[in-house]
Amino acid sequence: MSARIIDGKTISADLRGKVTDAVHRLRRDRGLVPGLAVVLVGGNSASKVYVRNKSKAVTEAGLQSFDQHLPENVSEAELLDLIGLLNADEKVNGILVQLPLPPQIDADKIIAAIDPDKDVDGFHPLNAGRLASGLPGLAPCTALGCVRLAKAVHTSLAGLEAVVIGRSNIVGKPVAQLLLAENATVTIAHSKTLDLPSVCARADLLVAAMGRPEMVRGGWIKPGATVIDVGINRIAGESGKEAKKPRIVGDVAYGEAKEIAGAITPVPGGVGPMTIACLLLNTLHAACMQNGLPAPKI
Ligand code: NDP
Repeated sequence: MSARIIDGKTISADLRGKVTDAVHRLRRDRGLVPGLAVVLVGGNSASKVYVRNKSKAVTEAGLQSFDQHLPENVSEAELLDLIGLLNADEKVNGILVQLPLPPQIDADKIIAAIDPDKDVDGFHPLNAGRLASGLPGLAPCTALGCVRLAKAVHTSLAGLEAVVIGRSNIVGKPVAQLLLAENATVTIAHSKTLDLPSVCARADLLVAAMGRPEMVRGGWIKPGATVIDVGINRIAGESGKEAKKPRIVGDVAYGEAKEIAGAITPVPGGVGPMTIACLLLNTLHAACMQNGLPAPKI
C-alpha cells in the first residue's frame, strides 16, 4: 500500500496562518510588531532566492523585515559591527545571517556574536546548550519543522524508535534533541555508522539528513514507518535524446520508500516549506521573550 504523503506545503501554510494571527493580536493588544533582520553577504543565486523568499514570508506574516545586503568582500570586522548594531536595535527581535559566508569570514565567530535571544536560526552555542539541557530557547528551524511534520502523523512521539541519519549542528543533532524531548528513543547515525540499513530498519520514525541523493532505499525502511526526508540534492538530468532538466531529490529513494513507509515527506514540498514557517514562529517567540510575554502556544 502506498504511504500517506505528509504535505509540508499545507502544514506550513497552516502554521504561517497561525503565526500571522498571533502577530496581528500582538500588534493590536501590545502595539508590538516583531522584526527580523536577514543578513546576506554577497551570495550565490540560491542564497539570494532563499533570502527573497524569507523576506516575502516575513512581510506576509505581518512582521517587519530589516534586510541587510553586504558586498562579497566585506570584512569580518564590518560584519561584526553590523551584528552589534542589530543586537542593540530594539525593533529587531530576530537576526539571521545567511550561510555560507565568504572565506574571509569565520561563520562560528559571527554566530557567536549574535545575541542568543535574537538567534532565530538557533545556531548560537548557548541555544544549542539550552536545547541539550531542556531549557527554553530558540531551536533550529529545520529541526523544528521535522518534528512538527512527525507530529502531524503521530499524536505522541513518546516511546517511538527514532533514527536520525546525520549529526550536523543545524539539522541532525537538534532533530535528535527535539525528538528526545518528545520522549522518543533516539539513535543518531552518521558516516561511520556500521550497517546503516539495519539501524534504519528498526525505526518507527526515520529522519534522513545527510545530503546523499536517494541513499535510503525502500528495503531499509520498516514497513509502516514515518519517513522525514530533509535532503535537498540537485541532480543532473538524464542525458540522451530526451534530456531532462536537473531535478531536486531527497536523501530517500522516494518511489521505493513510499511503497513501504506508512507516511513520508516528498522532496520538494515536505521539510523545505516548514523551515521558513518555523523561522517566522521563532521570530514571534523571540519578540515575546524579549518583551516578557509568554510565547503563544502554536
Ligand atoms: P552536513 O553535510 O552538514 O551533514 C551531513 C551529515 O550526514 C553528517 O553528519 C554526515 O556524517 C552524515 N552523512 C554523510 N554521508 C553519510 C553516509 N553515507 N551515511 C551516513 N551518514 C552520512 O549536512 P546538513 O545537515 O547541513 O544537511 C543535510 C541535508 O539536508 C542536505 O541535503 C541539505 O541540503 C538538507 N537541508 C535541508 C534543509 C531544508 O530546509 N529542507 C535545511 C538544511 C539542510 P559525518 O558527521 O560522519 O560526516
